[in-house]
Amino acid sequence: MDLLLPMLLSLQQLDDKLSAFAQKKQEIPEQIQAMKHAFEEEKKQLEDHQQCLKEASLEQRQLEKQLQESAEERKNKQKKLLEVKTNEEYKALLKEIEYAKQADSAIEDKILDKLEKIDSLEQTIKEGEKSIREKESKLQEETLRLEREIVEVDKEHQILQHERERVAAEMDPAVLEDYEKIRSRRAGQAVVTVWKEVCPGCHMKVPPQTINEVIQTGEIRHCQYCRRILYCELEETA
Ligand SMILES: [Zn+2]
Repeated sequence: MDLLLPMLLSLQQLDDKLSAFAQKKQEIPEQIQAMKHAFEEEKKQLEDHQQCLKEASLEQRQLEKQLQESAEERKNKQKKLLEVKTNEEYKALLKEIEYAKQADSAIEDKILDKLEKIDSLEQTIKEGEKSIREKESKLQEETLRLEREIVEVDKEHQILQHERERVAAEMDPAVLEDYEKIRSRRAGQAVVTVWKEVCPGCHMKVPPQTINEVIQTGEIRHCQYCRRILYCELEETA
């Protein structure tokens, strides 16, 4: 009978560890997923920048072409100036040339803007590519590490599981059933160690009489409020 409460306590501790392992087993793949997702996001951003660069370069080339054609046209108009017969025609042509010059100057400004944009995009892409390379190898390392950790956690989980089965097999089935029932109702916590005459499960006071009974008889007493099984240690109740 003396061993009953220590056994229950060790069962509770095993179950605590088991649920921690179960949680870890669930969290590790989620961690890997989150890392991969963040990496993919960054990669996508880099691809967006590369696409922008492609478009800006294309636009710049188109503008250059436009400027070249316009210069050609203007040259022709300059030649025509020598051939016109009337003053009105001459004036109109001069005006056209002037307009064309203004339009070209606007195109030149646009080209400068594009070049600036291209420059800054190239810089961003260069940095992005470097960062992606670093992150890719880090991701591989981390994934490997976490996958190895899963194997370890799994192994330890199994060892604990066996240990738990061994402890449970030694217990009175009725006690075990009581324990399981409380555990399922109380978020996995069936056995609590009374601290300063308080049940840590529900924070209610445990009568000194109950504490004394537990210490003296080693029998099971429940918290009268939450029904958890009370484990008591002499020095902590003094
Ligand atoms: Zn309680």
